[in-house]
This record gives sequence, C-alpha cells and structure tokens, in this order.
Amino acid sequence: MSIEIKVQRVGKGDCIWLKYGKENKVNIIIDSGTATKAKEFRNIIKSISESNEVIDLLILTHIDNDHINGFKKYISKNDGKIIKEVWFHGKGVKAYAINAPHSPKSAIQLEGIMEQRKMNVNHNIFKGYKKTINEAELCILTPTREAVRRVGTIVDQYVSPHGGGVHNQDLDWIYKNDEYIRDNSDTNAASISFVFSYEGKNIAFLGDAHAEDIIDSKNDFYNGINMDLVKLPHHGSSHNITEDLMKCLLCNNFIISTNQPVDKNTIARVVNSVEKSTIYCNYSWWDCNGYYTKKDREEYVYKEKLIMKELKKDEIIFSDEGCNIWELKKN
Ligand SMILES: [Zn+2]
Repeated sequence: MSIEIKVQRVGKGDCIWLKYGKENKVNIIIDSGTATKAKEFRNIIKSISESNEVIDLLILTHIDNDHINGFKKYISKNDGKIIKEVWFHGKGVKAYAINAPHSPKSAIQLEGIMEQRKMNVNHNIFKGYKKTINEAELCILTPTREAVRRVGTIVDQYVSPHGGGVHNQDLDWIYKNDEYIRDNSDTNAASISFVFSYEGKNIAFLGDAHAEDIIDSKNDFYNGINMDLVKLPHHGSSHNITEDLMKCLLCNNFIISTNQPVDKNTIARVVNSVEKSTIYCNYSWWDCNGYYTKKDREEYVYKEKLIMKELKKDEIIFSDEGCNIWELKKN
C-alpha cells in the first residue's frame, strides 16, 4: 500500500483522509465537514487512534462552515492531543466578530478553543510554502497573503456552492451556451490548496480555491507536469472550474465532494477539455432525475470518455507503488 484516499460523506462539505507510507503511516486530514456530519470526522479520528497512529497534519483549507465545523464540534469535547499540527487561517477575521451570521464566527471560536488546548497551529501557510513529511512533499498553491488579509478586512459575499443552472439539457447544448462567472467569495479565495507528491505521484487538493489562482500557481511550480489525481475546487462549482483550469491540470482523474447535483456546466467543460476523465464522487448525485440525457450517455458515458464512480461507504481511492491507475478498495 502506498497512497489511500477516503472522501467522507459530509453533505455538501469536504472531509478527506489521506494516508500513505510503508512502515510508518502518515495521516493527513483535509477539512472536517459540516457540524451535522461531524460523525464522519470523528470516525476518522477513532480509526486512526485504534491503529495507534496520529494525525500528522489537519489542514482546514478555509473558514467556511462546511470545512471547519466537524472539527469544531470534535475539539469542543476532546483534548486534541492526537493531532500534531493544524494549518488554519482563522486569525485576523475579527472584522466579522460583531455581527457574523456566517462562518467567520465559528473560525474565531475555533481559534480560541485550539489556543486553550495548546495545539500546534500554523497560520503561515501561503503560496510557495513547502513541507516534507515522511518523504512526501506538500507544495502550497494558494492562498497569497493578500487573499487571507482580505478575508479579515471586508465582509464576505457568500455565494452558494451550487449555482443551480440547467440540468435537463445535453452537455453539448450547455457547452455551446456556456458562460463563466467567476467565484467572488473572499473566503474561498483564501483557501489553502496544495499539491501532494509521493512516490512519483502528484495529487492536487484544491479546497474551494479560485480557478485563476490555481492556474497561476500550477504554471509557477508545476509547469507542464501531470497531476495524477485532482480534488476539484468548491464542490464542483462552475464558478471555480474553467476549461483553462482543466487543460492546465494535465489530469484524467478527479474527485468531487458534494451531495448535490453538480452544475452541468462544470461537466460540460470537463468533457470538452479532457479526452478521458474519471470522476470519483462521495455521493451518486447524477443517478437521480436523469442528470445525464440519452445523448450525453451515448456521446460520453458509453464511449467511456466520462466515467462516473461512486465511492461507496468505506471505499477508498487507492494507488499502489508502480501502479498507474487509481483503484477502489474496501477499507
Ligand atoms: Zn466548501
């Protein structure tokens, strides 16, 4: 076993468990999901603790509730000693403290709890920062210092992860009538996104970051380099995924973490910029309501230009040493 990835079912949030290593296993958790799905985050901790391992790193990509509240609920009742390091940009969001109905309030409270627990929190995670853990390298793509500072000074414009959009049209029709409106959320722009490299594999975890920022950093640090697997940003939102991004990633395998039907514009851009793609999903949102039309199935699904894979409960995305494909495996 070399790399295992488990995408927890946390509604429309993110909570991903990355485990790798030979004799010494390393556990990295990327985000912790919503409060209502906090059990999923707790289950990872339980399972790591039962194998007498630790969480080497918990990355909270940004301050939105669907990324931090699972952990907030857990840490309110536990000492957190099993977590060796946390990456989080929850400081400097004081601008919200006065009347914050949305996430920033949670972020401030969470920083307070972690301080009480004397946890090792690193707030200095910016573009270009690199860290090596047990022969794997993590290279930060976003955010810039400026993006994090902006979250602290102006009020966030919250945009729903899913734009609604048209779902009953063919992918080809949607592609012809496609219009891209970029994500204007400041908290998303402050997302920690990074490339994890281990045993010659490059995996990008893109948080809810903005497409334009990811492209810049991909060109800066990984110009022309293939990604083997990419967690697409912002739960597959069409405000964060462009054709340019898809072409720049040089990847065929993707993860989308959400329980809601993804904007079909996103899928239309994927199939028009990547020749063959496999999308791993923690919920089978395309199964219901005829998401793919007859024409879509004939043009893309049956020809295997687009392969949709549902990650069943406890199923992990797995890559062995020397193995070039990603397999699914029961835990
Ligand atoms: Zn999110």
